[in-house]
Amino acid sequence: MPRHVYRFGAGEADGNAEQKALLGGKGANLAEMTSLGIPVPPGFTITTEVCALAANEDTDLRELLGTQVEGALDRVAELTESTFGDRSNPLLVSVRSGAPVSMPGMMDTILNLGLNDETVQGLAEQTGDARFAYDCYRRFVAMYGEVVMGVRAENDADENPFAELLAQKKTEVGVQLDSDLSADDLRSLVTAYKIEILKQVEQSFPEDPMAQLWGAVRSVFGSWQNKRAVFYRRMNNIDGSVGTAVNVQAMVFGNMGDDCATGVAFTRNPATGDPGFFGEFLLNAQGEDVVAGVRTPQDIGALSETMPEANEELLRVADRLEKHFGDMQDIEFTIQRERLWLLQTRTGKRSGAAMIKVAVDMVAEGHIDERTAIARMDPAKLDEVLHPTIDPERKPPLVAKGLPASPGAAIGRIVFGADEAEAWANRGESVLLVRNDTSPEDIHGMKAANGVLTARGGMTSHAAVVARGMGKPCVTACRALAIDAVKKELRIGERCFQLGDLLTIDGSTGEVFAGRAGLVPASIGEEFATMMEWVDDVRRLKVRTNADTAVDARTAIAFGAEGIGLCRTEHMFFAPERILAVREMILAKSEESRREALDKILPMQREDFKDIFRVMEGMPVTVRLLDPPLHEFLPHEDAEIALVAEAIGRTSAQVKTMIADLAEVNPMLGHRGCRLAVSWPEVYEVQAQALAEAAVAVLAEGIAVQLEIMIPFVSIPQELAAIRPLVCDVVDRVLLEADVELAYLVGTMIELPRACLVAGDIAENADFFSFGTNDLTQTTYGLSRDDAGRFLPEYLERGLLDNDPFVALDHEGVGALIRVGVEQGRAVKTKLKVGICGEHGGEPSSVEFCHREGFDYVSCSPFRVPIARVAAAQAALRGEARSK
Ligand code: PEP
Ligand code: MG
Repeated sequence: MPRHVYRFGAGEADGNAEQKALLGGKGANLAEMTSLGIPVPPGFTITTEVCALAANEDTDLRELLGTQVEGALDRVAELTESTFGDRSNPLLVSVRSGAPVSMPGMMDTILNLGLNDETVQGLAEQTGDARFAYDCYRRFVAMYGEVVMGVRAENDADENPFAELLAQKKTEVGVQLDSDLSADDLRSLVTAYKIEILKQVEQSFPEDPMAQLWGAVRSVFGSWQNKRAVFYRRMNNIDGSVGTAVNVQAMVFGNMGDDCATGVAFTRNPATGDPGFFGEFLLNAQGEDVVAGVRTPQDIGALSETMPEANEELLRVADRLEKHFGDMQDIEFTIQRERLWLLQTRTGKRSGAAMIKVAVDMVAEGHIDERTAIARMDPAKLDEVLHPTIDPERKPPLVAKGLPASPGAAIGRIVFGADEAEAWANRGESVLLVRNDTSPEDIHGMKAANGVLTARGGMTSHAAVVARGMGKPCVTACRALAIDAVKKELRIGERCFQLGDLLTIDGSTGEVFAGRAGLVPASIGEEFATMMEWVDDVRRLKVRTNADTAVDARTAIAFGAEGIGLCRTEHMFFAPERILAVREMILAKSEESRREALDKILPMQREDFKDIFRVMEGMPVTVRLLDPPLHEFLPHEDAEIALVAEAIGRTSAQVKTMIADLAEVNPMLGHRGCRLAVSWPEVYEVQAQALAEAAVAVLAEGIAVQLEIMIPFVSIPQELAAIRPLVCDVVDRVLLEADVELAYLVGTMIELPRACLVAGDIAENADFFSFGTNDLTQTTYGLSRDDAGRFLPEYLERGLLDNDPFVALDHEGVGALIRVGVEQGRAVKTKLKVGICGEHGGEPSSVEFCHREGFDYVSCSPFRVPIARVAAAQAALRGEARSK
């Protein structure tokens, strides 16, 4: 029989921290802490391998695991000197999930298992505290009823029935706090809970502790597949096949009295990265109270006064754990009668700013080296550092203040539910999710919202942890909020806000403002620059930007761009004062009238190019000649049609007919890209002229120019063979006339499957290839870039695709074509410059692909440049590791 159960606690562990895949993060680290001599309540882990087996309803877990589980449970009983199910000295356990990758709060947990009408009396006698015993019991019945037996609120917006019964009880006896309920109140509440269970699911609550344990184990394994866990995995690209482990562990109690506490703490500040212990605790409470954010906890600093000895030990243990694991830790602890117990340690989730600061500080402190610091970056999280903050001069009225739970400013229309947030966001609205507190069910709403604002909670409550992980601004524990989710109203003092009203939150200060604040662009700290220097030392790939204007180019340079990889010239055509000339060009009936229109466009393009060359100061600039289907530029409104008609001396009716003639069934596969130049060479000639003249002018100002002209949408080598001389003739003529020497390149986009397959022939006339992976993905899959959004989500949901191929490059299919293209191209020209300019150029896994395939550069939007730099460095490090 394979081993499925691993013991930990009380100085003896079967596993260790290396076994996260088998034992889950929690189980592996509980074992590791045991070996380090850190006090961990004894227990055992049932491995992740069982998760898949448990998913099959026919698997009898008792038969599969019975002997191993019972053996391990006996050991726990022995170590705790108690007996499972014993009336006078009962062993109580927790049953918790623990996946290889941390998924905070997404799966289920059950505490105080082993209680029933008899053992609860044992607990009462043993602790001399009947109130405590019945409080544990009612919590257990509620958790078990909900998680294992499936008791639910009737509709989404309601509180669960157990919470309602609790509230009713408090009203009935006239108390405010849960802790004011007596043992008798709690006992009658347990009875009411059990009646509710029987009523809803037509089954009695199980009194047999062993039956409770098997029910809980199966359910916690099953929670791997619950909706929120599946959603969280999809959002974080976590493999759904790995499964969770289940940890069964002796209970320790933080709620046995005022010499007990429970808390969560980080070894550094997870929002800023500042050094120093950071966290919260609640006196006389159980762990779930902290995580759920129902009561507002105290700052961990206060523990030194309340329980100095336990606090000393906690600090010692935390320091030991951070040094041992070499990274910031997030720990869960319980103090039972002044004795400290560790329930969990894991690598602490942190904001983007903290990610950089902690890594740079840990290098300075000598705990890790620079390469480890780089490898630890989550490139996507850099986004947060780059986000705007509130302009102090342009703040609307401050209406409330809560805790600064996740940094950054967010503006949005207020909504009160997760589904509502998603629906509004899908309509293109910016929303703020406003709740009393969030629970893991709300995760899709949090994802859809610009920011999250909660009335309750703390710095480590669900909303805070999840928002920080997502990089969403979040303010928690904002007590001034009075939310009426039914009326869809938010009251803050005298003010009343309705669904859809605008608020701004500042997740870095906890402030809430009525209305829209002015935002200032992100400022990048010292540590960011240090990290980026290390990153640049390691990476081989160059990082360029996709920029169509001098302004974008300037932003990109500030983020470290080393050139422009794609300047889409058509984006210069849409300005109101230009579009008319462009329309004249498109509707021209002869070459002569087309040239007349182009003559108007020429000086405008020349000025744009000059601005860009000036900003780029000699860095490479790849300019793509006109690409999109022409109808994109044509007018739809009558007034605009009339304007064009007047400009070209036709009637509106005639213009409408001309527009109808230009319509295509599949414009993306129609008359676009180099096909336009085959029909109307003068379009590319004039663009080439504007480029050459701009280069000459800027060179005359003493500024260097590196020009790369790119011909789009080539699929037939002869297209490039015909267009290249046309472009070169114009550029050479301008240079000659100006008596200027300039070594420029002419290359092509490889964005059609046929271009990859005949890349050798194409390379004969190309100085460089730039892979246009947007179109290449579209044409390889036969999947419309514009329509795929309607049905691709279903593919992702059903697991038919792991990623949206328009976001992360498809290594197998599109990647195979790219490989052929690069290989053929370089077989003809060994030094052929190769880059990527599709959206994938700023996506980490795609950047890694480009590194592996020997690309020279990636090109992406300005804000993604730092992400691409980090991803390129990480790819280089992984490449080195592979070749060792
Ligand atoms: C591409 O197709 O990848 C590309 C960069 O061009 P566009 O998105 O402009 O079609
Ligand atoms: Mg394209």
